[in-house]
Amino acid sequence: MRFSILTATFFSLLMLPLFSQSPNDLGPGFNVATIDKTVDPCVDFYQYACGNWLKATEIPPDQSAWASFVDLRERNLATLRGILEKASAGAQRSALDQKIGDYYGSCVDESAANRQGLGPLKPELALLAAAQDKAALVDVIAHIHLIGPNPLFNFYSSSDLHNSGQVIAYIDQGGLSLPDRDYYLKDDEKMVGLRKALSEYVTTVFTLTGQNAEQAAESAKSVLRIETELAKASMDRTARRDPKNRDHKMSRTDVAALAPNFYLDRYFKDIAAPAFTELNVSNPEFFKQVNAVLAEEPLDSLKTYVSWHLLNGAAPWLSQPFVDANFKMQQALTGQKEIRARWKRCVSLVDGGLGEALGQRYVEETFGADGKARMLKLVAALEQSLDQDIQGLEWMSPETKQQAKVKLDAIRNKIGYPDVWRDYSALKIVPGDLLGNYFRAGEFESKRQVAKIGKPLDRKEWGMTPPTVNAYYSGSYNEIVFPAGILQPPFFDKTMDDAVNFGGIGVVIGHELTHGFDDQGRKFDAQGNLRDWWTEADGKEFEKRASCIADEYSSFTAVDDLKLNGRLTLGENTADNGGARVSLMALEKILAADTTGKAGEKVDGYTPQQRFFLGFARVWCEKRRPEYQRMLVSIDPHSPGRFRTNGVMQNMPEFQKAWGCKAGQPMVSANACRVW
Ligand SMILES: [Zn+2]
Repeated sequence: MRFSILTATFFSLLMLPLFSQSPNDLGPGFNVATIDKTVDPCVDFYQYACGNWLKATEIPPDQSAWASFVDLRERNLATLRGILEKASAGAQRSALDQKIGDYYGSCVDESAANRQGLGPLKPELALLAAAQDKAALVDVIAHIHLIGPNPLFNFYSSSDLHNSGQVIAYIDQGGLSLPDRDYYLKDDEKMVGLRKALSEYVTTVFTLTGQNAEQAAESAKSVLRIETELAKASMDRTARRDPKNRDHKMSRTDVAALAPNFYLDRYFKDIAAPAFTELNVSNPEFFKQVNAVLAEEPLDSLKTYVSWHLLNGAAPWLSQPFVDANFKMQQALTGQKEIRARWKRCVSLVDGGLGEALGQRYVEETFGADGKARMLKLVAALEQSLDQDIQGLEWMSPETKQQAKVKLDAIRNKIGYPDVWRDYSALKIVPGDLLGNYFRAGEFESKRQVAKIGKPLDRKEWGMTPPTVNAYYSGSYNEIVFPAGILQPPFFDKTMDDAVNFGGIGVVIGHELTHGFDDQGRKFDAQGNLRDWWTEADGKEFEKRASCIADEYSSFTAVDDLKLNGRLTLGENTADNGGARVSLMALEKILAADTTGKAGEKVDGYTPQQRFFLGFARVWCEKRRPEYQRMLVSIDPHSPGRFRTNGVMQNMPEFQKAWGCKAGQPMVSANACRVW
């Protein structure tokens, strides 16, 4: 379980919001030119700090949103493109450059993809067509799970919730094409429209495979019907936040008995899983539903559904008509106007499949030892502040404080890039074979996951690639991780004063640390085990304070009449509030220790405290297309930038003091919430 600072990408390789040129000349870094001085900071701080940025920014046509971190991702893309072009051309290449260069080269060759049409996928479709009964279908599903697409459910390995040092197998809900269960079950106009868009997408793709109009329409009906059945048994995202709802370790025999129609032993043999006796079924009701679907649906409908998942997964890497149909669906969900340039899609593809090979070259080019040393100092300062903050809490008993300190002291940190790089030597990359490379990369990763079952947890492993502009906290590892990609402006800027950097990367560090103590993180102990280490009374006090935050954010309107889900976003909002508080505490300590008087001086006319809050807001200046906003509000645990800023400001007396705000003004909440 990982909790990141930013919105993750929901369609893995398809949707990284990237663009090579900034849509305004303000750049991604901190700049007082983004401030709109006609706005009162005590009335709407986000509008004040980002107002001129918002006026100057148009979302580029190939994007669903624009923000400083998207700008940063775009800049990284350009760097990565340079690396990949060099790697794809050289004569005397290293094995690493051969892999990343040839994968990229096979991807950017658009004319080859167009010439081949559906050709590269035909062997996979034939394998599926040859399945004579439902048992044989399970063999094909196992194979498809290995190469990438995930029809029916998700299978993976992860650490045991109660014995975090040990990796076990997981079966989890999945098998949907739309982003969430609600998309199949809700009857409002938008959801009905998106189901129609999916139905058209499926119809188009099956027509492209050679079905006539009637057959293709029938295929679409089967896909929608089966996915709706799976959606009905899927747990909603808010319920999934509670790890107890996903904690169902069972014997292999009991799991097989949940879904006798699935031939589980055959599946495990097919994927060459090591011997094991227990696994976790995150949502047993869902797996029972898989069983029911297998019983009720005729073999042909099931084959149609499974082939759809193959086609949908492969569509972005087939010929133009498939790419277009796939993008049209993406457009319906995000409002994006144009597809991203092919080279950008290809850079993302290589990052997804060979991220720690590409990442090695990226780190060599961009990441210096000084960056790591400065980050280590910042992390130490933030850990100290959070410790001080927790020890000073009036609502928490000494027993729970003691336990919290044990957990905080045990948090490890990873900065920049892994100490041990992943070994890709078993992955064969063939020049000119895009889809083959894509499936082999998928299979390499799946086999790596399967091989971990029954082994001790590899604590050196990273869950994000080095160029990623993001950061995360992992509950089972009890660690915070900052890839090299995020250690750049506006998060981290060597040329800026401490105040701006503490408002940027300082808050991000505090945010990740706080995740260890949010509504989910607090349920795990220092070793990453699901164990309640709180006294009952302290647990109740926590819940009371967390509810205040949930209610606050539930009152914010994101788009039209759509309000935020304060329970879905509770962990992130708690982390934003806690992160801001402990980062400001760390800054105040530095200011107090300064004997020269220089640290407290105004810069650009702003005090260090004011610059801290401006640096904070700068990170979250953001524009989203309404379709995309709507999608994120239903599935993203992070709040939109406006509320990530104002939601925190309203709760902080330190903010009111820095800007001279008075009771009754909008940025001064009469019912200020505080957990940490
Ligand atoms: Zn987070």
